[in-house]
Amino acid sequence: MISVVIPIYNEDKLIDELFSRTKESISLFSEDFEIICVDDGSNDRSLEKLLECHHQDNRFKVISFSRNFGHQTAIFAGLSYAKGDYIGIMDGDLQDPPELFATFFEKLKEGYDIVYGVRKKRKESFPKKFSYWLYYRILSITSDIKIPIDSGDFSLFTRKVRDHMLETNEHNLFIRGIRSWVGFRQAPFEYERSPRHHGQPKYSLNKLKKLAADGLFGYSHVPIKLLGRAGTVIILLCLLYSIYTVYEKYFLGITPKGFTTLIIAIFFFSGVQLVSLRVIGEYVVRIHDEVKKRPRFIIKEKHLD
Ligand code: UDP
Ligand code: MG
Repeated sequence: MISVVIPIYNEDKLIDELFSRTKESISLFSEDFEIICVDDGSNDRSLEKLLECHHQDNRFKVISFSRNFGHQTAIFAGLSYAKGDYIGIMDGDLQDPPELFATFFEKLKEGYDIVYGVRKKRKESFPKKFSYWLYYRILSITSDIKIPIDSGDFSLFTRKVRDHMLETNEHNLFIRGIRSWVGFRQAPFEYERSPRHHGQPKYSLNKLKKLAADGLFGYSHVPIKLLGRAGTVIILLCLLYSIYTVYEKYFLGITPKGFTTLIIAIFFFSGVQLVSLRVIGEYVVRIHDEVKKRPRFIIKEKHLD
């Protein structure tokens, strides 16, 4: 049995197309499937449309959140209700072609546990493409585990992988990181990411920044280590400069004027300290989120039968 998890946030215009295309492409290799759509607190007609599809074909299942909890959380919720032997994740805007699941499935049969999509080309604006390009490279250099460059959440994996993914307890979810973290045999699959099928992206800039930070701070201690290194370099430079000033004063008899230097140094180091606090803060905020132990999401209604 195949389960496909799809997060949905205000996508009412494309649910019909999503329903028919996903159903068709999965039927090509298995009639035994379920498509779990997680409505992430949409405020348009998404839930109504999803329920219409559910009534037409009950293999199309619906979970609806009490409010917008976020894309990653919606995927996580879908994963926890999936019953399949193989479980797939795709976006609801048809940027990830569902037709590729058949290919992913073939690849799994070769003995892999996870097949994930790697975006070869993106049909998006230049600043967005460049930011993604830069981010994935920084993430790949800094992360403690190997998070493949340009990989998203689009993937198909075995139930065993899903079970281990669910064992992670973090609240600031970065699904592609968790997926890499569980290990097993993973295979990339390059594909061209299509433009969004309809409407505007539902990821606001703030949500994107949050996701990026969750990836960086959730999978790496490098930012903290960099602070330490920067501190050491600054201390060494200051030491050299202090020796030079003492030498100037006692051997050359020059009394330093240095007001400007002093002001610049004070402002510079105050800035460095604030930035450092922010970096430490990113970790503290994440610790805070974990100790609160709030549930990750609240379900308003679910239609799984
Ligand atoms: N999405 C969601 N919750 C959100 C934002 C987005 O469930 O708070 C869904 C959205 O409906 C879509 C998927 O996540 O199915 C990816 O969102 P989007 O296409 O906006 O992201 P992008 O492709 O621009 O990164
Ligand atoms: Mg999209």
